[in-house]
Amino acid sequence: MKSNWDVIVVGGGPAGSMSALHSAKYGASVLMLEKDREIGVPVRCAEGVGVVGLQKLIKVDERWIKTKIDKIDIISPNNTSVKVKFDTKDNGYILDRRIFDNDLALLASQAGVTVKTKSYVHGLTFSENGSVNGVKANILGKEVNLSSKIVIGADGVESRIGRFAGLKTALKIRDIGSGVQAVVSGIDIDQNTMKFYVGEKYAPGGYLWIFPKGNNIANIGLGISGNRCDIKKPKDSLEKFLSKHFPNGSILNYVAGGIPLAKTLDKIVTDGLVLVGDAARTVNPISGGGIVSGMNNGKLAGIRVAEAIKENNFTEKFLKKYKDDWYKADGKNHERLYKIKNFILSLTDNDFDHIAKKASAIPIEKRSVLKVFKIVVWRKPSLVLDVVKAFSGF
Ligand SMILES: Cc1cc2nc3c(=O)[nH]c(=O)nc-3n(C[C@H](O)[C@H](O)[C@H](O)COP(=O)(O)OP(=O)(O)OC[C@H]3O[C@@H](n4cnc5c(N)ncnc54)[C@H](O)[C@@H]3O)c2cc1C
Repeated sequence: MKSNWDVIVVGGGPAGSMSALHSAKYGASVLMLEKDREIGVPVRCAEGVGVVGLQKLIKVDERWIKTKIDKIDIISPNNTSVKVKFDTKDNGYILDRRIFDNDLALLASQAGVTVKTKSYVHGLTFSENGSVNGVKANILGKEVNLSSKIVIGADGVESRIGRFAGLKTALKIRDIGSGVQAVVSGIDIDQNTMKFYVGEKYAPGGYLWIFPKGNNIANIGLGISGNRCDIKKPKDSLEKFLSKHFPNGSILNYVAGGIPLAKTLDKIVTDGLVLVGDAARTVNPISGGGIVSGMNNGKLAGIRVAEAIKENNFTEKFLKKYKDDWYKADGKNHERLYKIKNFILSLTDNDFDHIAKKASAIPIEKRSVLKVFKIVVWRKPSLVLDVVKAFSGF
């Protein structure tokens, strides 16, 4: 394998593959390194995505889709249910990320990217002027130094690449969603509804989800705000819920993982390096969804990185346009969602029950996510404009 590349991408998740694909598509020589032995495994995700966002980024392959979602059901602590139906039959998908992530990497490789698995990056190299100019890696058991004009850090929520480059990547504890999820089979649930249980009773500072995967299987999990984990341990809470609601379900696997429920980092580029996806904190701070936003973010980074290669300019100043593009695309909206999330953290179970009662009084054909969130912020009118901007169309 050659040791000089235009671009080295660290991490083979959706954000990494999209950044690699778009860097290569616009002419760069790209190497993508993934530490695990297989792209897409293990799956630490509930696999839910919005259709519109995904379709804007990629031609959707039916093999990726486990189920199509046409409504959501939000359940408050006293079991008041607020259903929201969408106009189109397939408004959301529950993906099969094993196939999906693998296919994204395949698309990148078909665009010219060299993909290597079992390739762990444990350091960066720097030029004399302090610019990042390569990685230190262990590839299939062999220590190597590889040089590149630009490194893309797509190494997920636990990202070390940004830190190696001196960027401030630390999250506030309350902005770390502590997630745990089980794949449960043999359960009788509506296959087209995503369920969200809210409130202290289920998941303090977060929510519990049931996302159907077809064939009486579902991803059932919960995310708790990092500063509330001492009160309720996520796995204990999930087990309690499962034994109460699905005592006869079979648990096929458990996974745990962190979710960055924060605004995008202030600084996601430096000389010779950009961060993308969870590593740059591009997850939707309310839903915790980071697949589509990470892909979009990766795409924007890839395009700018390819321009940098063409212009032979790898400086922070040149690369910064990627951050500006991201801010216009989703970053600004995530700032609004972050403000709304912080308000939601202050709500009590009584508040959730009150909101659910008011929302369920809206006739179902007139109910929308936007209308529900307007009720959520009823006590804080200054957030109404943010809600309108963030949820218009939902
Ligand atoms: C329990 C849970 C449920 C979730 N549910 C949803 C959901 O329903 N919908 C949704 O949109 N999002 C969900 N998310 C969030 C979503 O999984 C992430 O936002 C998304 O995977 C981010 O993509 P990424 O490419 O940035 O990072 P990742 O998908 O995490 O990919 C990073 C990759 O980098 C690799 N890597 C890390 N370090 C190195 C290294 N040093 N060298 C080489 N490789 C490295 C990792 O092995 C990994 O493959 C969930 C997250 C959790 C934890």
